[in-house]
Amino acid sequence: MGPRASGRSAAAVVVLVLAALLGSAYALGRSMVPDEARPGATTHTAARTEYADQPAPSPSDARPTAGRSPDGEVATQDAERQPAAEGGDGLFGSRVTTGSRRVALTFDDGPHPDYTPQVLGVLREFNVRATFCVVGENAQSHPELIRAIVADGHTLCNHSWRHDVQLGRRSPDVIRADLLRTNAAIRAAVPDAPIAWYRQPGGAWTYPVVSVAEGLGMTPLHWNVDPSDWQAPGALRIATMITRSTTAGSVVLLHDAGGDRQGTVDALRHMLPELTSRFELEALPVDGTT
Ligand SMILES: [Zn+2]
Repeated sequence: MGPRASGRSAAAVVVLVLAALLGSAYALGRSMVPDEARPGATTHTAARTEYADQPAPSPSDARPTAGRSPDGEVATQDAERQPAAEGGDGLFGSRVTTGSRRVALTFDDGPHPDYTPQVLGVLREFNVRATFCVVGENAQSHPELIRAIVADGHTLCNHSWRHDVQLGRRSPDVIRADLLRTNAAIRAAVPDAPIAWYRQPGGAWTYPVVSVAEGLGMTPLHWNVDPSDWQAPGALRIATMITRSTTAGSVVLLHDAGGDRQGTVDALRHMLPELTSRFELEALPVDGTT
Protein backbone atom coordinates (compact mmCIF):
# COMPACT_ATOMS: atom_id res chain seq x y z
CA MET A 1 0.00 0.00 0.00
CA GLY A 2 1.60 3.29 -1.08
CA PRO A 3 1.43 6.53 0.87
CA ARG A 4 -1.44 7.82 -1.25
CA ALA A 5 -3.55 4.71 -0.70
CA SER A 6 -2.76 4.73 3.00
CA GLY A 7 -3.73 8.41 3.15
CA ARG A 8 -7.05 7.64 1.48
CA SER A 9 -7.67 4.79 3.95
CA ALA A 10 -6.93 7.05 6.89
CA ALA A 11 -9.27 9.67 5.51
CA ALA A 12 -11.95 7.02 5.03
CA VAL A 13 -11.53 5.87 8.63
CA VAL A 14 -11.83 9.43 9.90
CA VAL A 15 -14.99 9.92 7.88
CA LEU A 16 -16.47 6.68 9.22
CA VAL A 17 -15.63 7.55 12.82
CA LEU A 18 -17.07 11.02 12.40
CA ALA A 19 -20.21 9.59 10.87
CA ALA A 20 -20.56 7.14 13.76
CA LEU A 21 -20.07 9.89 16.33
CA LEU A 22 -22.56 12.14 14.62
CA GLY A 23 -25.01 9.28 14.46
CA SER A 24 -24.66 8.61 18.18
CA ALA A 25 -25.03 12.26 19.02
CA TYR A 26 -28.15 12.44 16.86
CA ALA A 27 -29.61 9.33 18.48
CA LEU A 28 -28.75 10.64 21.93
CA GLY A 29 -30.31 13.99 21.14
CA ARG A 30 -33.45 12.32 19.90
CA SER A 31 -33.70 10.14 22.96
CA MET A 32 -33.46 13.19 25.19
CA VAL A 33 -36.29 15.00 23.44
CA PRO A 34 -39.76 13.98 24.60
CA ASP A 35 -41.91 12.39 21.92
CA GLU A 36 -44.32 15.26 21.68
CA ALA A 37 -41.53 17.77 21.07
CA ARG A 38 -40.02 15.94 18.13
CA PRO A 39 -40.80 17.36 14.76
CA GLY A 40 -43.30 15.17 13.02
CA ALA A 41 -44.11 13.24 16.18
CA THR A 42 -47.73 12.99 17.08
CA THR A 43 -48.94 14.77 20.17
CA HIS A 44 -51.45 12.01 20.65
CA THR A 45 -49.95 10.66 23.84
CA ALA A 46 -49.82 13.99 25.60
CA ALA A 47 -53.30 14.95 24.52
CA ARG A 48 -54.70 11.62 25.59
CA THR A 49 -53.11 11.77 29.00
CA GLU A 50 -54.49 15.21 29.54
CA TYR A 51 -57.96 14.12 28.48
CA ALA A 52 -57.72 11.06 30.65
CA ASP A 53 -57.20 13.05 33.80
CA GLN A 54 -59.09 16.20 33.00
CA PRO A 55 -62.54 16.12 31.50
CA ALA A 56 -62.41 17.70 28.08
CA PRO A 57 -64.42 20.88 27.73
CA SER A 58 -67.33 20.45 25.41
CA PRO A 59 -69.07 23.78 24.92
CA SER A 60 -71.37 22.34 22.29
CA ASP A 61 -72.99 20.08 24.82
CA ALA A 62 -73.96 21.50 28.17
CA ARG A 63 -75.58 18.35 29.44
CA PRO A 64 -73.96 16.66 32.42
CA THR A 65 -72.54 14.03 30.13
CA ALA A 66 -70.51 16.63 28.29
CA GLY A 67 -66.78 16.61 28.45
CA ARG A 68 -66.40 13.31 30.15
CA SER A 69 -63.04 11.72 29.96
CA PRO A 70 -63.41 9.54 26.94
CA ASP A 71 -62.28 6.00 26.65
CA GLY A 72 -59.18 4.97 24.89
CA GLU A 73 -56.55 7.19 26.37
CA VAL A 74 -55.53 5.45 29.55
CA ALA A 75 -56.00 2.08 28.03
CA THR A 76 -53.60 2.52 25.18
CA GLN A 77 -50.79 3.40 27.50
CA ASP A 78 -51.64 0.85 30.15
CA ALA A 79 -51.88 -1.85 27.55
CA GLU A 80 -48.23 -1.37 26.75
CA ARG A 81 -46.96 -1.73 30.28
CA GLN A 82 -49.41 -4.00 31.99
CA PRO A 83 -49.53 -7.70 31.45
CA ALA A 84 -52.55 -9.58 30.29
CA ALA A 85 -54.11 -11.68 32.99
CA GLU A 86 -56.12 -14.85 33.01
CA GLY A 87 -59.67 -14.92 31.75
CA GLY A 88 -59.47 -12.66 28.73
CA ASP A 89 -56.89 -11.40 26.32
CA GLY A 90 -56.49 -7.88 27.71
CA LEU A 91 -55.73 -5.97 30.88
CA PHE A 92 -56.54 -7.89 34.04
CA GLY A 93 -58.36 -10.49 32.02
CA SER A 94 -60.60 -8.08 30.13
CA ARG A 95 -61.74 -9.08 26.66
CA VAL A 96 -60.27 -7.23 23.72
CA THR A 97 -61.55 -9.49 20.98
CA THR A 98 -64.80 -11.31 20.37
CA GLY A 99 -63.16 -14.70 20.60
CA SER A 100 -64.46 -15.61 17.16
CA ARG A 101 -64.03 -14.26 13.65
CA ARG A 102 -67.01 -11.96 14.17
CA VAL A 103 -66.47 -8.26 14.74
CA ALA A 104 -68.22 -6.26 17.46
CA LEU A 105 -69.03 -2.57 17.24
CA THR A 106 -69.41 -1.00 20.68
CA PHE A 107 -70.90 2.42 21.44
CA ASP A 108 -69.98 4.08 24.72
CA ASP A 109 -71.18 6.86 27.00
CA GLY A 110 -74.83 7.09 25.94
CA PRO A 111 -77.61 6.90 25.55
CA HIS A 112 -77.84 10.38 24.08
CA PRO A 113 -81.09 11.84 22.73
CA ASP A 114 -79.46 13.26 19.58
CA TYR A 115 -76.99 10.58 18.58
CA THR A 116 -78.22 7.26 19.89
CA PRO A 117 -81.36 7.32 17.69
CA GLN A 118 -79.21 8.17 14.66
CA VAL A 119 -76.80 5.33 15.40
CA LEU A 120 -79.73 2.97 15.83
CA GLY A 121 -81.14 4.15 12.51
CA VAL A 122 -77.94 3.50 10.56
CA LEU A 123 -77.41 0.11 12.20
CA ARG A 124 -80.98 -0.82 11.29
CA GLU A 125 -80.39 0.24 7.71
CA PHE A 126 -77.44 -2.14 7.44
CA ASN A 127 -79.07 -4.84 9.55
CA VAL A 128 -76.20 -4.71 12.03
CA ARG A 129 -76.42 -5.53 15.75
CA ALA A 130 -73.99 -3.92 18.16
CA THR A 131 -73.31 -3.45 21.86
CA PHE A 132 -74.04 -0.27 23.83
CA CYS A 133 -71.95 0.51 26.90
CA VAL A 134 -74.31 2.85 28.68
CA VAL A 135 -73.71 5.27 31.52
CA GLY A 136 -76.12 4.82 34.43
CA GLU A 137 -77.27 8.39 34.80
CA ASN A 138 -77.90 8.61 31.06
CA ALA A 139 -79.89 5.42 31.18
CA GLN A 140 -81.93 6.92 34.00
CA SER A 141 -82.53 10.12 32.00
CA HIS A 142 -83.41 8.29 28.78
CA PRO A 143 -85.09 4.98 29.56
CA GLU A 144 -86.87 5.13 26.20
CA LEU A 145 -83.49 4.93 24.47
CA ILE A 146 -82.50 1.87 26.51
CA ARG A 147 -85.76 0.29 25.36
CA ALA A 148 -85.04 1.26 21.74
CA ILE A 149 -81.55 -0.26 21.92
CA VAL A 150 -82.89 -3.55 23.27
CA ALA A 151 -85.87 -3.57 20.91
CA ASP A 152 -83.50 -3.44 17.93
CA GLY A 153 -81.64 -6.53 19.13
CA HIS A 154 -78.52 -4.82 20.42
CA THR A 155 -76.90 -5.89 23.68
CA LEU A 156 -75.98 -3.88 26.74
CA CYS A 157 -72.83 -3.21 28.68
CA ASN A 158 -72.52 -1.37 31.99
CA HIS A 159 -70.23 1.68 31.69
CA SER A 160 -70.52 2.87 35.33
CA TRP A 161 -72.94 5.34 36.84
CA ARG A 162 -71.20 8.60 36.03
CA HIS A 163 -68.30 7.59 33.83
CA ASP A 164 -65.86 7.56 36.71
CA VAL A 165 -62.42 6.98 35.22
CA GLN A 166 -61.06 6.58 38.77
CA LEU A 167 -63.65 4.02 39.79
CA GLY A 168 -61.12 1.19 39.79
CA ARG A 169 -59.17 2.91 42.56
CA ARG A 170 -62.13 3.10 44.90
CA SER A 171 -63.14 0.52 47.48
CA PRO A 172 -64.83 -2.66 46.29
CA ASP A 173 -67.99 -1.54 48.10
CA VAL A 174 -68.06 1.76 46.23
CA ILE A 175 -67.37 0.01 42.94
CA ARG A 176 -70.10 -2.56 43.56
CA ALA A 177 -72.64 0.15 44.49
CA ASP A 178 -71.80 2.10 41.33
CA LEU A 179 -72.21 -0.90 39.04
CA LEU A 180 -75.39 -2.05 40.76
CA ARG A 181 -76.92 1.42 40.54
CA THR A 182 -76.17 1.46 36.83
CA ASN A 183 -77.70 -1.96 36.29
CA ALA A 184 -80.75 -0.85 38.26
CA ALA A 185 -81.21 2.18 35.99
CA ILE A 186 -80.98 -0.04 32.92
CA ARG A 187 -83.46 -2.52 34.36
CA ALA A 188 -85.82 0.27 35.34
CA ALA A 189 -86.15 0.77 31.59
CA VAL A 190 -86.03 -2.89 30.55
CA PRO A 191 -86.68 -5.11 33.59
CA ASP A 192 -85.26 -8.31 32.16
CA ALA A 193 -82.38 -6.75 30.22
CA PRO A 194 -79.32 -9.00 30.21
CA ILE A 195 -76.23 -6.97 31.13
CA ALA A 196 -73.38 -9.35 30.49
CA TRP A 197 -70.53 -6.87 30.02
CA TYR A 198 -68.81 -4.14 31.95
CA ARG A 199 -66.50 -1.57 30.41
CA GLN A 200 -64.37 0.55 32.71
CA PRO A 201 -64.39 4.24 31.70
CA GLY A 202 -61.09 5.26 30.18
CA GLY A 203 -60.11 1.60 30.05
CA ALA A 204 -58.57 2.22 33.48
CA TRP A 205 -58.85 -1.35 34.64
CA THR A 206 -57.78 -2.47 38.06
CA TYR A 207 -58.04 -5.83 39.73
CA PRO A 208 -60.79 -4.62 42.12
CA VAL A 209 -63.02 -3.31 39.33
CA VAL A 210 -62.57 -6.47 37.28
CA SER A 211 -63.22 -8.61 40.31
CA VAL A 212 -66.39 -6.75 41.30
CA ALA A 213 -67.73 -6.76 37.73
CA GLU A 214 -67.13 -10.48 37.43
CA GLY A 215 -68.71 -11.05 40.84
CA LEU A 216 -71.83 -9.36 39.49
CA GLY A 217 -71.82 -11.63 36.45
CA MET A 218 -70.36 -9.15 33.97
CA THR A 219 -67.36 -9.83 31.75
CA PRO A 220 -64.83 -6.98 31.55
CA LEU A 221 -64.87 -5.67 27.99
CA HIS A 222 -61.99 -3.77 26.44
CA TRP A 223 -61.35 -3.21 22.70
CA ASN A 224 -58.62 -3.45 20.11
CA VAL A 225 -59.70 -0.90 17.52
CA ASP A 226 -59.92 2.70 18.68
CA PRO A 227 -60.40 5.42 16.06
CA SER A 228 -60.46 8.12 18.79
CA ASP A 229 -63.83 9.24 17.51
CA TRP A 230 -64.32 11.24 20.71
CA GLN A 231 -61.73 13.67 19.35
CA ALA A 232 -64.08 14.32 16.44
CA PRO A 233 -61.47 13.81 13.70
CA GLY A 234 -64.20 13.70 11.06
CA ALA A 235 -66.30 10.93 9.62
CA LEU A 236 -63.88 9.97 6.88
CA ARG A 237 -60.92 9.57 9.21
CA ILE A 238 -62.94 7.53 11.66
CA ALA A 239 -64.21 5.29 8.90
CA THR A 240 -60.80 4.89 7.27
CA MET A 241 -59.08 4.04 10.53
CA ILE A 242 -61.66 1.41 11.33
CA THR A 243 -61.72 -0.24 7.93
CA ARG A 244 -57.92 -0.37 7.88
CA SER A 245 -57.48 -1.66 11.43
CA THR A 246 -60.35 -4.06 11.88
CA THR A 247 -59.48 -7.73 11.59
CA ALA A 248 -61.41 -10.87 12.39
CA GLY A 249 -62.43 -10.81 16.04
CA SER A 250 -61.97 -7.07 16.55
CA VAL A 251 -63.87 -5.13 19.18
CA VAL A 252 -64.27 -1.58 17.88
CA LEU A 253 -64.62 1.33 20.31
CA LEU A 254 -67.01 4.09 19.27
CA HIS A 255 -69.04 6.71 21.14
CA ASP A 256 -72.65 7.79 20.79
CA ALA A 257 -72.40 10.50 23.45
CA GLY A 258 -69.97 12.73 25.33
CA GLY A 259 -69.76 15.51 22.76
CA ASP A 260 -70.58 16.12 19.12
CA ARG A 261 -70.82 12.59 17.73
CA GLN A 262 -72.15 13.45 14.29
CA GLY A 263 -68.82 12.33 12.82
CA THR A 264 -69.30 8.91 14.33
CA VAL A 265 -72.83 8.64 12.95
CA ASP A 266 -71.62 9.67 9.48
CA ALA A 267 -68.61 7.35 9.71
CA LEU A 268 -70.97 4.43 10.12
CA ARG A 269 -72.57 5.21 6.78
CA HIS A 270 -69.14 5.41 5.15
CA MET A 271 -67.76 2.21 6.55
CA LEU A 272 -70.62 -0.21 7.02
CA PRO A 273 -70.90 -1.19 3.35
CA GLU A 274 -67.28 -2.36 3.36
CA LEU A 275 -67.24 -3.69 6.90
CA THR A 276 -70.35 -5.80 6.43
CA SER A 277 -68.94 -7.19 3.19
CA ARG A 278 -65.75 -8.33 4.92
CA PHE A 279 -66.98 -9.41 8.34
CA GLU A 280 -69.94 -10.71 10.18
CA LEU A 281 -70.82 -8.04 12.73
CA GLU A 282 -72.32 -9.17 16.00
CA ALA A 283 -73.84 -7.86 19.18
CA LEU A 284 -71.71 -9.31 21.95
CA PRO A 285 -73.65 -12.21 23.37
CA VAL A 286 -75.80 -11.81 26.46
CA ASP A 287 -74.07 -14.59 28.34
CA GLY A 288 -70.77 -12.74 28.29
CA THR A 289 -68.93 -15.40 26.33
CA THR A 290 -68.33 -15.99 22.68
ZN1 LIG B 1 -66.67 5.98 28.09
